Amino acid sequence: MTQNIPELYGSLVFSDKVMRNKLPKDVYKALRKTIENGTHLELDVANSVAVAMKEWAVENGATHFTHWFQPMTGITAEKHDSFISPTGSCEINMDFSGKELVKGEPDASSFPSGGLRATFEARGYTSWDPTSPAFIKDGTLYIPTAFCSYSGEALDKKTPLLRSMEALSQEAVKVLHLLGKTDVTRVTTTVGAEQEYFLVDKDLYEQRKDLIFCGRTLLGAPAPKGQEMEDHYFGSLRPRVAAYMHDLDEELWKLGIPAKTKHNEVAPAQHELAPVFETANVAVDHNQLTMEIMKKVADRHHFVCLLHEKPFEGINGSGKHNNWSMTTNTGLNLLDPGKTPAENTQFLVFLTAVIAAVDEYADLLRTSVATAGNDHRLGANEAPPAIISMFLGEELTAVIDSILNDTYFKNQKAIQMETGATVLPHFMKDTTDRNRTSPFAFTGNKFEFRMPGSSLSMSGPNVILNTAVAEMLSHFAARLDGVPADRLEGTVHELVKTSLEKHKKILFDGNGYTDEWVEEAEKRGLFNLKSTPEALTCFTSEKNCDLLIRHRIFTREEIHSRYEILLENYVKTIHIEARAMQEMVQKDFLPSCLSYMDHLAETAIRKQKLSASLSIASETKILKTLSDLTEQISERLSALTIHVSEAEGMSDVLKAAYDYQSIILTDMEMLRSVCDQSETYLPDQYLPYPTYNKLLFSV
Ligand code: ADP
Ligand code: MG
Repeated sequence: MTQNIPELYGSLVFSDKVMRNKLPKDVYKALRKTIENGTHLELDVANSVAVAMKEWAVENGATHFTHWFQPMTGITAEKHDSFISPTGSCEINMDFSGKELVKGEPDASSFPSGGLRATFEARGYTSWDPTSPAFIKDGTLYIPTAFCSYSGEALDKKTPLLRSMEALSQEAVKVLHLLGKTDVTRVTTTVGAEQEYFLVDKDLYEQRKDLIFCGRTLLGAPAPKGQEMEDHYFGSLRPRVAAYMHDLDEELWKLGIPAKTKHNEVAPAQHELAPVFETANVAVDHNQLTMEIMKKVADRHHFVCLLHEKPFEGINGSGKHNNWSMTTNTGLNLLDPGKTPAENTQFLVFLTAVIAAVDEYADLLRTSVATAGNDHRLGANEAPPAIISMFLGEELTAVIDSILNDTYFKNQKAIQMETGATVLPHFMKDTTDRNRTSPFAFTGNKFEFRMPGSSLSMSGPNVILNTAVAEMLSHFAARLDGVPADRLEGTVHELVKTSLEKHKKILFDGNGYTDEWVEEAEKRGLFNLKSTPEALTCFTSEKNCDLLIRHRIFTREEIHSRYEILLENYVKTIHIEARAMQEMVQKDFLPSCLSYMDHLAETAIRKQKLSASLSIASETKILKTLSDLTEQISERLSALTIHVSEAEGMSDVLKAAYDYQSIILTDMEMLRSVCDQSETYLPDQYLPYPTYNKLLFSV
């Protein structure tokens, strides 16, 4: 039953409204100052907040609290402590102190640290992030926290994000002050993460080891129908899916997550959820929660929610579009072109900074989305290519051309939409049209980075984006500093023009899926980092280390530890996939083929016994084909087994990663191809797992 939505919304969040009601006025003010301006929070304020938070949590049924953090596993971590504190025999108080709110000490030895933390100093610290609201889930008060080592190195995804938001704010404020906007004291980055996902029936899922262990299918012949009819995209929701989405929305709304749009996606069984944008770190926290809740609610509806980037071969995989902009504390969206972008100096400065940043650090941006799963999407003509380029749309391209060529920009009149049907209301067309093939597109008043994979934490891409833009803004600030007022306009124009000259090679409005673009991009000198190992090697280049160290996002040690973790993660992912495939083929698929062949042989023999005149041609034909195919399966399985054990022994993780990418993934593809061919000969009752037909079309 649907409740009153405004009442339901945020009902499990220690929200601003709750804080205003529960906190003493001065405490509330101090906390707001920390949230809005990033100022340090005193312990007495924390004590007071802790009391109110516990009271509110207990009133709402919570018995425990947890410091909720985002280690380098890419998912979230939590350890629950109850509020109880014994006061006598069989008597307790429900206690929670400021110290417990502010700091936690989880044993950190089993989280990936990339060599940053020896196990003998296993202590890790979590510290409260007051800028992301606490919430209640399953009877526990969740406190968003950052996670670092005993000596202060970041071991998580939140710390660098907060650092990068700070860096961007500082530099953006400097530039705004130089441009005369002296009332601005803070700039925040805003993020809206559109999330794609698949839903499959739980019973079917449980019969597939590949889905259970890897989140994607490793075998499976295509269904007779894929996505070629384009009838799933925006199609009407099936009742079971609609019920799921309804439930999901309500769960998200209770947690104050602004889920806004939902629809069917291109591939069968694929869907999307888009929230309203929020401050970057809250949006990232909320996206992590969204992914978790998606899975949890799916279970209730006897579904499994697949967040893998490529669960099924031959149909589109899932991504996560990162919509990104910058807003001042005075409420200005710095990427809003206004009615006359050509005359909007401030907009042009910030637009140019983003263009320069994306061009200068394209390799780092690519690195930030590099995972084994995402390698299946990028460049496969379903998602952007692995080459980063930027799309601006007709109007902005014309503005930029006029700056580059010193010509006068003629503002296009807003274009009236002509549908030819007089009963339809008239409206104006957007002048920023859409280009779905671009990895980084301007969409009205924000940029949309379309490369991230569906399971990725949105921290990484936003860290790089914020930092790279901060860097460009810092150059701009240095250039504009000290320029007298009467020469400011001319200097800004010159600055924008020279930056655009230098970085225009990143701009591309054409079709990013074509081979011509790959050639053209190479001529322009753009990066085309096709695989994760290749991309990750860029992470530690001198130039990229310089950037990240200069803006205090990472220390050199933190960069190297992250590089190690990401490479190891890549290797482990493919290793698990290879092992799962070996097991599925060896123990399930090959025996299935053999029993069907046995059945065919038995039939043939029985037929012949019955009468020599009965034809056994069809049995023989299938037997012959399957016999050839199973022989190839055996051979390819052996090759995979040998290569996996070779790679397993390697101590150089980069070399191992390249082996997994070039040798083992190829072995797996070849093995899959013969298995999938054999699958088309096997009746369903012989198959050890449900087919693509069932997985994709049975809901
Ligand atoms: P589409 O599917 O066409 O890409 P959607 O409307 O589904 O577009 O998603 C657009 C996303 O962009 C939403 O999450 C929206 O909140 C977000 N967005 C809008 N304005 C901004 C902004 N200023 N900063 C960041 N994200 C924004
Ligand atoms: Mg989008």
